[in-house]
Amino acid sequence: MSTRPHRLPLVPLGRAVLDRAAERRADLDDLGELLADPDTRVLEVVDSHCPVLDTQEGPRLQLRAGRPGDSARLPVFLGVDDERHAVVALVGVMSEVVTPAVETPDAAPWRTLREVGEHLPDAEVALMTTALALHHWHGTHGHCPRCGHPTVPARGGWVRRCERDGSEHHPRTDPAVIMAVVDDADRLLLARNVGWPQGRFSVLAGFVEPGETLAQAVEREVLEEVGVRVTDVQHVGDQPWPFPNSLMFGHTARALGADLTLQEDEIAEAMWVARDDVPRLVEQGIWIPTRSRLSISTHLMEHWYGGPLLP
Ligand SMILES: [Zn+2]
Repeated sequence: MSTRPHRLPLVPLGRAVLDRAAERRADLDDLGELLADPDTRVLEVVDSHCPVLDTQEGPRLQLRAGRPGDSARLPVFLGVDDERHAVVALVGVMSEVVTPAVETPDAAPWRTLREVGEHLPDAEVALMTTALALHHWHGTHGHCPRCGHPTVPARGGWVRRCERDGSEHHPRTDPAVIMAVVDDADRLLLARNVGWPQGRFSVLAGFVEPGETLAQAVEREVLEEVGVRVTDVQHVGDQPWPFPNSLMFGHTARALGADLTLQEDEIAEAMWVARDDVPRLVEQGIWIPTRSRLSISTHLMEHWYGGPLLP
């Protein structure tokens, strides 16, 4: 069958390299002392943006020393850098702050992970990906799911604890599957979600449901969305996707038939694409494959195509 390598090449957010030094979290209910240490490096997060400098080598996160008042900004202990210095993200929203108005350290522009994630060094992509996921989690889990009482951060920001019943709550990650489905003629299945603009087709994706394996989620999603049964589901790569808190599991799968029956409230259009037709489809604007190489979908499509889909 295929001569393609089984695994995807490293996808951008899957390059993350971070020593989380998780054993230190137990002593870090309060990060005040750590923030006062002049060796500690601080990464600010405001409204899903971080300060990023444009350098000749590409974008680089701008970290700074701790400052008075940082403790009030909800510090999270991300881990330690190459020199064993603690790295702390400030993930709480600053009051009365709108992103463009707040001054960044050394006037670095505020950038999103979507803008810079592909070009950050491996260690920095880890810091920003992790910080954003925790930023969102803290911002949306302020109350105890058991009793509704407010929760407070603990253990370096990796736990929220209910002060009424003592229950502890951990950052949430939602698994999702994304799959390159091919038919017996090695054509790739592409679909356009309702709500996407004309020409934007991608591979199918969906969240894993409770009680499912990854492969079962792939089989169910493809059947639900386009009415196709698949087999030979293979996991080929994954990456965190903190928009806001997913983990994307990339798969390939083989269709058992080519007839498409669309789930109308989800899928506006779907089509099988032959490799030889790709240049024409792209040139005519029938398929606008991607503008970003950050998503694993791009890598799945290029893995099938055997080369870049856009110059
Ligand atoms: Zn509670």
